[in-house]
Amino acid sequence: DEDIQRCIEAGADDYLIKPIQHKVLAAKLLAMARIANMRNRLVSMNKRLEALSTTDYLTELPNRRAFEISLTDEMAKAARYEQALSVAVLDIDHFKRINDEYGHDVGDEVLRQVSARLKSSLRKGDVIGRIGGEEFGLCLSHTSAEDAVNACERYRKAISGDPIICGEHELNLTVSLGVTAYCENMGQLELIKLADKALYDAKAQGRNCTVYREGCGEA
Ligand code: GH3
Ligand code: MG
Ligand code: MG
Repeated sequence: DEDIQRCIEAGADDYLIKPIQHKVLAAKLLAMARIANMRNRLVSMNKRLEALSTTDYLTELPNRRAFEISLTDEMAKAARYEQALSVAVLDIDHFKRINDEYGHDVGDEVLRQVSARLKSSLRKGDVIGRIGGEEFGLCLSHTSAEDAVNACERYRKAISGDPIICGEHELNLTVSLGVTAYCENMGQLELIKLADKALYDAKAQGRNCTVYREGCGEA
């Protein structure tokens, strides 16, 4: 009895006593297969739930939560290995007008197509997430301020270069971007706030542009 107790405590799921009774063995194999099956179903269901909780339903991009988790990881790496890291916020210009003029469905389709363009322009190591209604976060690892501005300009042109076709509508869309660089000891909130301020500047400068805001050394 103590052997059985020790084995089960050590991780065994069941036991057989010799001489082996074949009918009992077959029945126990059936039970084990049932448990293995249930475990596999739980694993795949968990994967699906994880994907659902980190993916934006409309655009299939990482959602705000997933974006912030990636950003936390990248900030830790940037601090530990003294690597460059830049963060940008991209916002569609006058998006409300699209909803107002063409309806919410067209607005949704525009968001999907903008996301697809962002995804297909994605550079290795960049993370893009939908962090608000018509607002996207870009986490650009190993990217200095100057390279980040260039990357943002590429993303901007990928969206505004060709009109977006939604049914019979041909929509010429522009976006504005605010970008900043991560500096040691910066918090995530501070970093996103700075990129947001840069975005605000881009809007104030007439939209359809990228504005960089220096974070390091500023009060
Ligand atoms: P600006 O250039 O200053 O950014 O102007 P804007 O019109 O883009 O900004 P504003 O914040 O005034 O409007 C954003 C609009 O985005 C309002 C909201 O109804 C719309 N929106 C947010 N999420 C969704 C969505 O999932 N689908 C659709 N169709 N519209 C959305
Ligand atoms: Mg907008
Ligand atoms: Mg916005």
